[in-house]
Amino acid sequence: MSSIAENLSAVRGAIREACAKAGRDPGEVRLIAVSKTKPAALVGQAFEAGQSDIGESYVQEFIEKQRSEELTGLPVRWHFIGHLQTNKVKFLVDKVCMVHSIDSPRSAEELSKRAVRAGLTVDYLLEINTSGETTKFGLAPGELLSSAHRFFSLPGIRLRGLMTIASPDREQARREFRLLASLLKELRTQAPDPEALTELSMGMSQDFDIAIEEGATLIRIGTAIFGAR
Ligand SMILES: *Cc1c(COP(=O)(O)O)cnc(C)c1O
Repeated sequence: MSSIAENLSAVRGAIREACAKAGRDPGEVRLIAVSKTKPAALVGQAFEAGQSDIGESYVQEFIEKQRSEELTGLPVRWHFIGHLQTNKVKFLVDKVCMVHSIDSPRSAEELSKRAVRAGLTVDYLLEINTSGETTKFGLAPGELLSSAHRFFSLPGIRLRGLMTIASPDREQARREFRLLASLLKELRTQAPDPEALTELSMGMSQDFDIAIEEGATLIRIGTAIFGAR
């Protein structure tokens, strides 16, 4: 077994354990293996070990990896999770199964325009700055609720939920995950199609157990699978 396969197996075990502790069905929590800065060959090993949801953070690196000899033609489900400049949206639109990091009406509008042009429907999440740190990307919670209507009716894209990157402190992270879960509930009360709003993308190597307790449906794990960056 490759070390990637071993790491994946350990992470999946820890996810099952966290689900058992939280009284949740492990089928409700999807693991996304985050491979930023790591070579395509390691992504290939993860895929061979049954990991088909892969997350990338940088547009250029993502495109290169997606086209690499090791990965070309494999049915990888690519998730884009990094900060996305509006002028880069066009490079991603036909290559991703979900964009986790839309953080303004303007970038949602661009994603919509490009998706329509490509004849696609693209799932996306809104990134929320739950910690309020100015260095972080994401809509402020108040901004989300006041601008939500601008996201609901865009063609070619489908809002599926919310994403956040939590603070390093675990207790603070828990509060931020709770805030994200409550914002999703609130958003559902405004949405024309609340049934589509099911996803909470939260939890990374250091805090995914807490995120699962607080309702995560998508967890993004890099270091625990691919090693330190
Ligand atoms: C890098 C990254 C991750 C993975 O973080 P680890 O601590 O390595 O598990 C998750 N989400 C986002 C948005 C990232 O940029």
